[in-house]
Amino acid sequence: MGLFGGRKTVLVDADILVIGAGMAGCGATYESRYWGRELKIVTVEKANIERSGAVAQGLYAINCYMGMQWNENQPEDHVRYARNDLMGLVREDLGYDIARHVDSTVHKFEEWGLPIMRDPKTGRYQREGKWQIMIHGESYKPIVAEAARKSADKVYNRIMVTHLLMDATKPNRVAGAVGFNVRTGDFHVFRAKAVIVSAGGASHIFKPRAVGEGMGRTWYAPWSSASAYALPIEVGAKMTQMENRIVLTRFKDGYGPVGAYFLHLKTYTQNGYGEEYESKWYDHTKQLVGNYVDRHPVPTCLRNHAFLQEVAAGRGPIRMVTKEAFQDPHKETVGWENFLGMTIGQAVVWASQNIDPKHINPELTTSEPYVMGSHATCSGAWASGPEDYAPAEYQWGYNRMMTVEGLFGAGDTIGGTAHKFSSGSFTEGRIAGKAAVKYVMEKGRATPQVSEKEYRDLERTIYQPLENFRIGRNEIVAGTVSPSYLLPIHGLQRLEKIMDEYVGGISTNYMTNGKLLERGLELLNMLKEDMDHMGAEDLHQLQRTWELHHRLLASLSVTHHTMFREETRWPGYYYRGDHLKLDDENWHCFTLSRYDRASGAFAMEKAPVYHIID
Ligand SMILES: Cc1cc2nc3c(=O)[nH]c(=O)nc-3n(C[C@H](O)[C@H](O)[C@H](O)COP(=O)(O)OP(=O)(O)OC[C@H]3O[C@@H](n4cnc5c(N)ncnc54)[C@H](O)[C@@H]3O)c2cc1C
Repeated sequence: MGLFGGRKTVLVDADILVIGAGMAGCGATYESRYWGRELKIVTVEKANIERSGAVAQGLYAINCYMGMQWNENQPEDHVRYARNDLMGLVREDLGYDIARHVDSTVHKFEEWGLPIMRDPKTGRYQREGKWQIMIHGESYKPIVAEAARKSADKVYNRIMVTHLLMDATKPNRVAGAVGFNVRTGDFHVFRAKAVIVSAGGASHIFKPRAVGEGMGRTWYAPWSSASAYALPIEVGAKMTQMENRIVLTRFKDGYGPVGAYFLHLKTYTQNGYGEEYESKWYDHTKQLVGNYVDRHPVPTCLRNHAFLQEVAAGRGPIRMVTKEAFQDPHKETVGWENFLGMTIGQAVVWASQNIDPKHINPELTTSEPYVMGSHATCSGAWASGPEDYAPAEYQWGYNRMMTVEGLFGAGDTIGGTAHKFSSGSFTEGRIAGKAAVKYVMEKGRATPQVSEKEYRDLERTIYQPLENFRIGRNEIVAGTVSPSYLLPIHGLQRLEKIMDEYVGGISTNYMTNGKLLERGLELLNMLKEDMDHMGAEDLHQLQRTWELHHRLLASLSVTHHTMFREETRWPGYYYRGDHLKLDDENWHCFTLSRYDRASGAFAMEKAPVYHIID
């Protein structure tokens, strides 16, 4: 910001503004250019598009590929699979829409240079599982980013978007966004005819297992700070299934993925005494969820449930049996390479703990909960569905448009569509990009009116924590605890503790109830009141402050949704102790919320689940 605090205001006009350039944002940027040759496409990213988002480190598998060219799967099969895994509740129209287009996305990735492994016998892509194909994916993100960079008029890196702007003349119409450059401090005002939010999911809203110096180590990317949810929530977009957080079974302490081990290396699990345990919990689970336990494959949450019950019964730790598979040198190589392309930290953890999986069966654990819409859960914004496929009740505008006019979303942002993963998120970005272009061409030609007062007020709010710190710092001579401000790390730890203890985190073994949620909401609202007193030492801490704002708003939404759904739909993800069973009669539905920023209230309602595919 310079020695004398000379902060610039940068005003940018765009036809389409893409917020967050991970997988979905790159897809949205690419496709917007394809359909909107004459349009001005601007993409804003808080990190650097080259290595940003959950795929930053690379991946070892693309988890969503139908293989229609070889008649391996059809889109309908994928909808059935996701519906089954989510205990019956998915937006089948949205899921089908992604599944029918996802193969073409993967073919583009290969064309752009992504090495996809092939089965030497069949020549087809090497399958890791029914939906997964294996890649040499260390450079997955740079490859995808290149396509987006070439498509955008301009990519603004290092801009953290803090708020959306609304049209001053038309209610419920988005008009752009504001944010700041995390390196220079410049204030950015983007005015746009359509906005696509693709700002990733939410880690660090529940207390992680790794605390203290290890707290940056989480399964989902630590920089996924819930902007995908907070930005739309704040302007009143309806959200869905925000209670549907995910808990993952992963290798202990490094969060190393287990998919390739189970699917490709054919490993399996045992309790601490070397016994198979999942079948022991069958009757118990059946009492809670009925026939859902008989589905194939067994839903992810129910497999977690057996794991948690076995550990609670005193028969941990749960281990993965790797010793057998690793005797095969090929499988041993695959096992290690699986981490090198994606979670190198797990290999380092094993080395540091003297674990050679050829000789020792490594421990597994269940993670803290995360909130996201692209993995095996489906929290996110309530979006209009595809014209040719969505039931009338799911259609009020353009495909992937939220309940705010001109506001679109993709990837982790959009709710109801689990199991899209990297390729499905890029595909949904393409779908949203195409629809946003159509919206601009047909309805949004006029540039929305942005009130200067609105963005100047926001500017003051955004930078206030720097001022709070500058003044409050004089009240202490040393240390970090001040009587007049709260540092982002303190606020984050307070948030994580509330969510952990009241909303079903690790310390309560994922258990909550109406009373705990009620108290949790009181404490979250107290934190919200204190957010005016955040102090930021520098621009980096200012970014942390706004990430905390976003995490807090998303957490409030999660807590309201969890309170509203009076059943335990996904045992293994979380439990309502006062409603321990799945209740299809009353809760085979989506939960929807709408936040009113003037009053701070969340209005809750139910929406029907339509089963379009048999
Ligand atoms: C550990 C791990 C393993 C995974 N393994 C696989 C796998 O094997 N196969 C597979 O297919 N998928 C896998 N996934 C899932 C896949 O990575 C996600 O589904 C996908 O990245 C989601 O895309 P997205 O665009 O919604 O979010 P992201 O790709 O995370 O992109 C979000 C972007 O928004 C930016 N952003 C956030 N907030 C702001 C803001 N306020 N202002 C501006 N920019 C912002 C971020 O910097 C980021 O670039 C894995 C994910 C993780 C974390």
